[in-house]
Amino acid sequence: MYDSIIIGGGLSGLAAAVKLADGGKKIALFEQAPRLGGRCYSFVDKTTGDIVDNGQHLLVGAYYNLMEYLDLIGTRNLLSSQPRSKVIFFEAKRGMSAFSLKELPKPLNLLFGLFNYKHLNPIDRLKLLRIGIELFNWAASTELRLKKLTIDEWLDQQRQSEDARKYLWHPLAISIMNESPKIASALLFARALRATFLGSKNDSAILMPAVGQSDLYSEPAIRFLENHSAEIFINKQVASLFLRDGEIKGVKLQGGEIIESKSVVSAVNSHAFSDIIPEEWKREKPFCDIEKIQSSPIVSVNLWFDNDFMDIDSIGLIGGNIHWFFNRRRIISSEKKTGYLSGVISAARDYVNLTNEEITGLALKEIHGIFPQSKKSKLINSLVIREKRATISATVDAEILRPGVESQINNFFIAGDWTNTGLPATIEGAVLSGFKAASRVMSLLSNQ
Ligand SMILES: Cc1cc2nc3c(=O)[nH]c(=O)nc-3n(C[C@H](O)[C@H](O)[C@H](O)COP(=O)(O)OP(=O)(O)OC[C@H]3O[C@@H](n4cnc5c(N)ncnc54)[C@H](O)[C@@H]3O)c2cc1C
Repeated sequence: MYDSIIIGGGLSGLAAAVKLADGGKKIALFEQAPRLGGRCYSFVDKTTGDIVDNGQHLLVGAYYNLMEYLDLIGTRNLLSSQPRSKVIFFEAKRGMSAFSLKELPKPLNLLFGLFNYKHLNPIDRLKLLRIGIELFNWAASTELRLKKLTIDEWLDQQRQSEDARKYLWHPLAISIMNESPKIASALLFARALRATFLGSKNDSAILMPAVGQSDLYSEPAIRFLENHSAEIFINKQVASLFLRDGEIKGVKLQGGEIIESKSVVSAVNSHAFSDIIPEEWKREKPFCDIEKIQSSPIVSVNLWFDNDFMDIDSIGLIGGNIHWFFNRRRIISSEKKTGYLSGVISAARDYVNLTNEEITGLALKEIHGIFPQSKKSKLINSLVIREKRATISATVDAEILRPGVESQINNFFIAGDWTNTGLPATIEGAVLSGFKAASRVMSLLSNQ
């Protein structure tokens, strides 16, 4: 009999498992895939031997729960930090301009950073203050108001110009929310901005993994869990929860085997959740509407060149097809002389059905526009990765459908980036939800 069974080995499941194992609990984790990490993994590209992530992830210092998770599994030192959050944006007509925080106390660091952002004229820069004031004077009434608004409606209310949207808010919103500002929740976006820019000094630091995602998040977690006598089962799909006399007694695996436990944590993604819960729960709140939560895709395009022409770590594109290019040679340091870039398209509904050649062609055209010297470089390999269900579509309507950690059954808890974490669907949300579920399991077990 396990203290807890965790269903799903993404970051929320791993976080719950690590926390419970650290607390001395006897746990088992079941993952249907042949590897752990869920939507955060890496692999070695056969042609080049390079480590490829399923999509370049960006982290910030405000990811406190993630930092705690990495401390537990011992890999926090594998993040490289950029304390002043320098982000370079490129637009075909206006060229490059950098936004970075200044070495000043908050909120002056942010204000001076914005005032120096050359893609906007001085009047538009001044108008950004309205948003700054809104975030600085945050109150319960702000939450209530923003809850009903999309990002674009909020920007309308704050009288942000077309240029401010195009050159600043929309690129930030699409990256943070993985959704169009036309439908994404203003509340989640504003909370993310506040946490990143108005928290403590390190909260706004941009952090990037200096290793592949599996080496940062999953492989060390497996070692940690095995050292703490936890049992990990991959290629094992949970078919359903196992209930007896209205109580959860464990899980039933695909194939019929029943595994018993004192508690169960679901850490599966939103679309898999309905498959494991009993039919009658699907007719009741809060689970009756879960299938209405939609997904939003991310497309990544990895390009290898015969030389490395990109002399910066990353660049954001304004008005292009690709939103970001990352220089993987600089992010994951390497002696190789070839160039390796990874492009990311968020909220990529218009791109997922294009062919690999079409996506690669779009990316190449944009690289040639930003780095004219790249026209002399030869493309030697390319790889397109489509994550059709990269995150939930974080709309105003979806926000009220996200369930909390507790269910109607006292020994069943729900984790995952799609649950009601108060955050957009991010790694931080995933880890936070896993920790919350673990803490509920600990309380339950301590009362037995
Ligand atoms: C391309 C891409 C880029 C991203 N970029 C960022 C970023 O820059 N910053 C950021 O913070 N976040 C980013 N995210 C989001 C982040 O990756 C996710 O929020 C996080 O990984 C979600 O973790 P999770 O544990 O909630 O879910 P998942 O990772 O989906 O884990 C759920 C697991 O449950 C398993 N499972 C499902 N059903 C069953 C079953 N019946 N039995 C057993 N196992 C089951 C699945 O196989 C899966 O492994 C990105 C995501 C993608 C895809």
